[in-house]
Amino acid sequence: MTPDMLIIGSGIFGLTAALELGARGHRVMVLDQGSIPHPLAASTDISKIVRVEYGPDEAYMALMERAREGWLRWNEELGQELYHEDGLLMLSQGPMSPGGFTYESYRLLQKRGHEVQRLDADTIARRYPAWNAQLYNDGYYNPKGGYAESGRVVAALAELARESGIAFQIGQLVQSITEDNGRVTGARLANGEHVAARHVVVAAGAWTPWLLPELRHVMHVVGQPVFHIKPADPERYRPPHFHTFAAAVSRTGWYGFSIHPREDVIKIANHGVGRSIDPLHDERRVDDAQIASLRAFLAQTLPDLTEAPLVYTRLCLYCDVLDGHFWIDRHPQRQGLTVASGGSGHAFKFAPVLGSLIADAVEGKPNPDLHRFRWRALDPATVIEEATRYQGFPGNSRVSRKVSEA
Ligand SMILES: Cc1cc2nc3c(=O)[nH]c(=O)nc-3n(C[C@H](O)[C@H](O)[C@H](O)COP(=O)(O)OP(=O)(O)OC[C@H]3O[C@@H](n4cnc5c(N)ncnc54)[C@H](O)[C@@H]3O)c2cc1C
Repeated sequence: MTPDMLIIGSGIFGLTAALELGARGHRVMVLDQGSIPHPLAASTDISKIVRVEYGPDEAYMALMERAREGWLRWNEELGQELYHEDGLLMLSQGPMSPGGFTYESYRLLQKRGHEVQRLDADTIARRYPAWNAQLYNDGYYNPKGGYAESGRVVAALAELARESGIAFQIGQLVQSITEDNGRVTGARLANGEHVAARHVVVAAGAWTPWLLPELRHVMHVVGQPVFHIKPADPERYRPPHFHTFAAAVSRTGWYGFSIHPREDVIKIANHGVGRSIDPLHDERRVDDAQIASLRAFLAQTLPDLTEAPLVYTRLCLYCDVLDGHFWIDRHPQRQGLTVASGGSGHAFKFAPVLGSLIADAVEGKPNPDLHRFRWRALDPATVIEEATRYQGFPGNSRVSRKVSEA
């Protein structure tokens, strides 16, 4: 069977695209270099934040409001709670003020009718005793948000896809996209095999600029540290005393989660500039400097965790687009090829709406939400526009900041 649609990559972009294109009647095959969920894939993890907050960016908030509804629906349809809506703590160092990420998120949430609770230092100290409320003394609590167990989501969606007749071919790296007269004809695998197809969707995450060199000037791969720590007193780190959080994130990069229901650890990570890395050849290791910065953050923020055992670290890769927005569009020169990638460290939460965005791009259907993800010219000095992103991690600042946090 020659598939209509050949999807390279079974991360969240690839799987949601496969399900939607299958539902629209296309014959779909998914290729991946390894098991699903793939251990090196960005989508594979114990948790990813699901928030509607994007600072002053109303388009992202509106899209996320729809995605959040989708997460609740998936919990029903998949028959398991993969999205945990146990609330979000968005804290700032010093009073929130206009132009700041937390303030602008709060203002927009109120404008759009979300019921959020403003927090002052006393309330933070009383309700969330693990926090240093002298430093984090303003912010808000949003009950509509939390985290998704991303690896389990990928496994569940892959199962759903198989049940719906989508074919999978696992175990071979796609070496190249094949073409005849400017029209894509399929993919060449590392073992030399050719898989023919009428249309190819590249959803290869951090491997995308390697597979499509014409995107290397707008997409960079960076490694971001992930830490799992084991608290001595787990009860202190469960809702309602502790929630998924952003700690003045656009100014520090730090965010984290309450204790994981299955893994019994607290995951903390940094949404910062990251370290440039080659996904195929470089070692993916969290270094001592990154561990030291975690300890410094904990000492300042969650003092009781400063010396807590670090039981796992991982360097996970972002496929960063220069402006921080996703890349979902048909190739302007290569017919029959669509790119769905460029997650830039924040795409997982959009999973319930990603599939229809990608399918609309493949089918050339007009969709206003696709405008910011279109194939676009970006000059090298482009700055990241995604408001949550901290852009100045010690000794590694790549671009000047766009949004101040106060
Ligand atoms: C540390 C970290 C924390 C994050 N936290 C959050 C968060 O809290 N909230 C949020 O919304 N987002 C978060 N993100 C972003 C989110 O995880 C990603 O944007 C998203 O998962 C990217 O999905 P993907 O499908 O593009 O890539 P991936 O999940 O990486 O999947 C790509 C797949 O393609 C396969 N592949 C690649 N190349 C080939 C090839 N040549 N041949 C065959 N197979 C191939 C790989 O094996 C892999 O399975 C985070 C990302 C990281 C790295």
